[in-house]
Amino acid sequence: MRISVDQDVCIGAGQCALTAPQVFTQDDDGLSEVLPGREDGHGSPLAREAARACPVSAITVAES
Ligand code: SF4
Repeated sequence: MRISVDQDVCIGAGQCALTAPQVFTQDDDGLSEVLPGREDGHGSPLAREAARACPVSAITVAES
């Protein structure tokens, strides 16, 4: 699994960081970013849930 966030699309709703705080955080501008080293989802099924919960579909989960 490979997780990425398109910050051009993210509106900073914060859903992802709430849903999967072990994978996502928010930067100083409130936009989501994947925590360093957690791009593989950290073995958490919540990463996929966070992608579904994003209101603007800014999160991509690619199978590797
Ligand atoms: S849920 Fe989507 S819009 Fe909200 S912070 Fe996360 S990536 Fe951005």
